[in-house]
Amino acid sequence: MKIVVQKFGGTSVATQAARDQVVKRIIQAKEEGQSPVVVISAIGRKGDPYATDTLLELMTEAGSNVPKRERDLLLSCGEVISCTIISALLTKAGYPARALTGGQAGIITDAEFGDARIIEVLPEPLLGILKEGFIPIVAGFQGKTPSGDITTLGRGGSDTTATAIGAALDAKAVEIFTDVEGVMTADPHLVGEAHILDVVTYEEVAQLAYQGAKIVHPRALELAMQYNIPLHVRSTFANEPGTLVTRGVHCPGRLKLGPDRLITGIAHLSNIVQFKVRLPKEDKAKETRLFKTLADVGISIDLINVFPEMKIFTIAEADLPKAYQELEQAEFEVTVTQGLAKVSVVGAGMRGVPGVMARVVEVLNGAGVEILQTADSHATISCLVRSEDTQKAICALHEGFGLGK
Ligand code: ADP
Ligand code: ASP
Ligand code: MG
Repeated sequence: MKIVVQKFGGTSVATQAARDQVVKRIIQAKEEGQSPVVVISAIGRKGDPYATDTLLELMTEAGSNVPKRERDLLLSCGEVISCTIISALLTKAGYPARALTGGQAGIITDAEFGDARIIEVLPEPLLGILKEGFIPIVAGFQGKTPSGDITTLGRGGSDTTATAIGAALDAKAVEIFTDVEGVMTADPHLVGEAHILDVVTYEEVAQLAYQGAKIVHPRALELAMQYNIPLHVRSTFANEPGTLVTRGVHCPGRLKLGPDRLITGIAHLSNIVQFKVRLPKEDKAKETRLFKTLADVGISIDLINVFPEMKIFTIAEADLPKAYQELEQAEFEVTVTQGLAKVSVVGAGMRGVPGVMARVVEVLNGAGVEILQTADSHATISCLVRSEDTQKAICALHEGFGLGK
């Protein structure tokens, strides 16, 4: 059996015309002699009736302390709605299909509601359905705990459902169908000059994803990388081959394990808040308490700079009320700057190459973008900028590193 996992994102199932296209893609795989296992996201995006954000909003009247278990049960409904519709459309077209929740498809997770990790995928339910001649249509973004509670996998988690199933069923490929042509040098909705990357390594896309490019969920990439599953990222609405994400770049007669390029692309993350906390130099206990206070309430920090009298870091804007309250209560002297974004130059090939930071500074200064803070790793240089400068910064860096078409 040539199993191929096909995952369709929210915009790919948002309209009747889009759903017809999805059905066509699945039928095409079947007609080519493959055995498609399909993963579907909730219909549409923010504002659409059954989108994940819309379901989330339904809970706002219940306040901010809704039990996470209940919240997950509600959020899981978006994907259940969309997978039943696609299943019904396929069956009507003469290709019998069967819709399944994540749990019914054998996806077992831990009990970290809202951000659950897949601990096991039982292959039997999906293999059984394939053997009976049905096309399995799985609700993405969800699983169940060993005791049967429904969990969700974190925003964008349908990609993870797809690669986890791909690994469990030893699929020959996982296809991520979305609303753009493939993995590009920047978000094409922000950078008109962004162009498609035909072949990229798992590491390159993972770095883009960690820095905010939501084209594929980072955890999905980790699984694809671990189990060496070829990943195709392509448009539901065009026939182009899209991007192949793989272990190495295949050249005639050899397999190159590293990319040629210095820079893969520019990624960004919006809605960031910077904290500056002044502390007496000698008060080491308070320094420890600062980071522990945030960790204890589950707040993740980024862009961390620790100086003897000043600690600087960023958090997601959504965590601001909680972080501020906790630090005030613990009597820290805090300065908060809101309305920021992180723009990152990403490239696994930049490791050890001098001059990348110099170019970043030159380009952003030239564009009149003030850099508020920076951080770097072996494959990224990130700059904190004001939200209103985000697009200017991305476009300038994209051009400055010669990534244009
Ligand atoms: P889906 O609903 O299909 O999962 P997502 O919205 O999660 O789609 O991801 C696709 C979106 O990712 C695109 O519409 C695009 O705006 C965004 N994106 C961000 N960075 C990139 C990039 N480097 N290449 C392609 N798309 C990107
Ligand atoms: N519907 C979920 C979300 O919006 C999962 C996904 O689309 O991958 O985050
Ligand atoms: Mg997505």
